[in-house]
Amino acid sequence: MSGDAKFKSSVGVIGAGIQGVCISLCLIKKGFKVTLIDRDDPGKDSASTGNAGHFSPYASVPINRSDILVDVPSMLFSSTGPLALKWNYVYKMLPWFLKFVKNCNKKNMMHTAKYMHQILNLALPAYDELFSDIDISGLVESNGIIYFWTKNDLKSRELEINIRNELGVKQQLLTRHEIHDLEPHIRKIYHAGVLYPNARHTRNPKKILLKLFDLFLKRGGHFKRQNAQSISFTSDNKPVIKTDLNLYTFDKAVIACGAFSKKLTDQVNEKIPLDTERGYHVHFRGHDHLLSRPVIFLNKGFGITPMEQGLRVVGTVEFGGLNNPISKKRVLNLVNNAKYLFPELTDHHDEWLGFRPTLPDFLPVIGPSKNYKNLFYSFGHHHLGWTLGAISGKIIAGMIAGENTNLNLSPYKSLRFS
Ligand SMILES: Cc1cc2nc3c(=O)[nH]c(=O)nc-3n(C[C@H](O)[C@H](O)[C@H](O)COP(=O)(O)OP(=O)(O)OC[C@H]3O[C@@H](n4cnc5c(N)ncnc54)[C@H](O)[C@@H]3O)c2cc1C
Repeated sequence: MSGDAKFKSSVGVIGAGIQGVCISLCLIKKGFKVTLIDRDDPGKDSASTGNAGHFSPYASVPINRSDILVDVPSMLFSSTGPLALKWNYVYKMLPWFLKFVKNCNKKNMMHTAKYMHQILNLALPAYDELFSDIDISGLVESNGIIYFWTKNDLKSRELEINIRNELGVKQQLLTRHEIHDLEPHIRKIYHAGVLYPNARHTRNPKKILLKLFDLFLKRGGHFKRQNAQSISFTSDNKPVIKTDLNLYTFDKAVIACGAFSKKLTDQVNEKIPLDTERGYHVHFRGHDHLLSRPVIFLNKGFGITPMEQGLRVVGTVEFGGLNNPISKKRVLNLVNNAKYLFPELTDHHDEWLGFRPTLPDFLPVIGPSKNYKNLFYSFGHHHLGWTLGAISGKIIAGMIAGENTNLNLSPYKSLRFS
């Protein structure tokens, strides 16, 4: 695309979560005219603000592993485990589950690991580029992330550790004593763990998202607080976004609505099997001094991050779609788990439910629509959408600008579901 044409091109981006905001900012930096559309104020309640705040460049081993199928049934039937089901949603999610099971084999697991690693490896440098233009002091810490467990020989840990070694991920195995030295306030229930020293965390994802959004506005970006209802195309293939208030025609458009993207992609004749893994958080205010970095207690499948709001206790994978209410049982489970590790915790605040956007092969969709050359997608980043915000933004902006990249981007195309 020639320079002049590029500067005149307009792009509509739907969704102001971390994906949409990073994409919009990267596009503005390249000279596009960008309009960001969200039905809510940016950062109001989305997954991008309630997450655990981990920047996890190491986390390439997907959930679609062959050994997981053995554990799933018992986890699902346990009321205190990390997995849960809303029974009224089972039949709706059945096609997703069947596709997920098909992906639980070594070949597909390694395919996902390889292509998650490709983008995870670039995730922090991509954020550093965006962070060089905003003040993140006090908001991002680089103390690594610790996983720990209660049995020395937890088999599944070996698999993860071996794959990460193969991929060249930096990791440091920890003894019980080393965990205690690093995080002395946690009850010593663990036997061993691993430190990912290159991981970072934010003390407030919402503040970071809003700072990036403000920068987007300062650079000339436009924001419309409207609900995108449908997408159609002009005779020369330009996308037309119909919102509850208006019709907008752009040269290009991007769908970045997280777990809600399917409503729009279904309308453009794609069959993308996007669903959601619901997750929860609660805060214990004023206790963030108890941890120096995020920790994850693997046996119970939950984590705790020290944040400005206090200790943010995060976890649960609940299959239940986008409309079921918050499950008090799951909240209580998180609260009890946190108190098990920190008996001094008392009252919790801010019970929150969020929606991880997840595809059954645990790879995101990043790239052009199968049917319309001026429509692009960036969603389905499951447990890693916060980490992958800046790099997805960079990739999509590069694609729209017609730039070449030395990455293999075909594994992320929606075409894989055709
Ligand atoms: C409990 C939990 C913990 C997590 N922890 C981490 C972590 O530590 N590290 C990590 O990397 N990832 C984590 N994740 C995952 C990460 O938060 C998500 O993958 C990521 O936030 C998804 O970002 P997004 O921009 O795609 O979607 P979202 O953040 O969901 O944003 C989508 C936006 O689209 C808007 N929208 C939807 N439909 C429409 C419409 N029709 N019109 C207009 N606007 C619309 C919504 O209002 C919303 O603002 C976690 C997720 C959860 C739930």
